[in-house]
Amino acid sequence: MPLIVQKFGGTSVADAERIRTVADHVARTRAHGNQVVVVVSAMGKTTDELIRMASEVSKSQPGREMDMLLTSGERVSMALLCMALADLGVKAASFTGSQAGIITDTDHTRAKILEVRGDRLREALAGDMVPVVAGFQGVSTARDVTTLGRGGSDTTAVALAAALAADFCEIYTDVSGVFNADPRIVPAARKLERVSFEEMLEISSSGGRVLALRSVEYARNHSVELHVRSAFTWEPGTWVVREDTRMEQPVVSAVTHDVSEAKLTVAGVPDKPGIAARLFRGLADRSINVDMIEQNTSIEGTTDISFTVPKEDFEVSRAMAEALAPEVGASGVFSDTHIGTVSLVGAGMKTHPAVAAQMFETLAAEGINIEMISTSSIRISCVVAQEEVEKAVQALHSSFGLG
Ligand code: ASP
Ligand code: MG
Repeated sequence: MPLIVQKFGGTSVADAERIRTVADHVARTRAHGNQVVVVVSAMGKTTDELIRMASEVSKSQPGREMDMLLTSGERVSMALLCMALADLGVKAASFTGSQAGIITDTDHTRAKILEVRGDRLREALAGDMVPVVAGFQGVSTARDVTTLGRGGSDTTAVALAAALAADFCEIYTDVSGVFNADPRIVPAARKLERVSFEEMLEISSSGGRVLALRSVEYARNHSVELHVRSAFTWEPGTWVVREDTRMEQPVVSAVTHDVSEAKLTVAGVPDKPGIAARLFRGLADRSINVDMIEQNTSIEGTTDISFTVPKEDFEVSRAMAEALAPEVGASGVFSDTHIGTVSLVGAGMKTHPAVAAQMFETLAAEGINIEMISTSSIRISCVVAQEEVEKAVQALHSSFGLG
């Protein structure tokens, strides 16, 4: 019998009616002859609400206690969904991350999965039951409850699909799939039928908000096929699969954007070994995810190093850079929080060198100044002023014929 992991996001289980609708869908999937493992997020904006409560009570918010608090959201959803399934005559049982055997490291609020045991889920399946698992959580090697970082339920679903050797993993959400630009900015944006893991990684890391980046990494590493689709219309969505090398790859698959980062520049850095190492080691030790990094060839013995970090890590990063600058003889630190990144992603870029030129020409024609550029083999990103982001996305979407 095929085994499908079905993950339902916060909006999909936002209220009683939604939970009954989801139960109905799970029951129907079973009736069609599949085994189902369900993963749920917290209802609606529950996690945001819990974070707000914590900040009303506490300044220090110890990670262990934050995790204990936040995991309660997913517990509510899983128990309610099991009750709704019971009403439909479907045998179901809820499991916390810990009960499901999701073992993580001890890095509270952003723990990484080390191992998935899943014994109790296998037992439940063997007993013809539907296991319903609380997303976003696990238990650490020190036996404390942990969370996997915001959006972590996607990762739970993929990890369970891998551990249980599911046929595929369905990610149900409030949009009908992965679009080739944000439809709120580009009305002509189109839904992608399939994308490769590599393209999806670039889309997620450059601002595509449909799937959490770590879940895509996990899916690629364990070859778990994903189907991202709507829990409102139930229409077929976007498949995320291994790249099919027999097919001609689209040159540009999607335009993405991201306004969640800030830019820092350490200026007048003496051109000698070890300075970048110290700067980025300091950031890495604080678990700060640096995105773009740019350093120029030095002229007259000094250079500038610019990089971008998530806005929530901006103050810590700036303090670190400002402390380091005098120590290494740099002339100063400059920062800009009003930036945005626009990116083109496409597997065919590898063999089409003109994409960058066309991207820069398109931005130039709109009078948009490029502040930083970075590339991978299948992505080109430009940092621009935050207020230019929408215009840039619209212009690129039309210039590359994605409408
Ligand atoms: N409830 C968690 C969050 O809002 C996890 C998730 O929904 O994936 O981040
Ligand atoms: Mg979510």
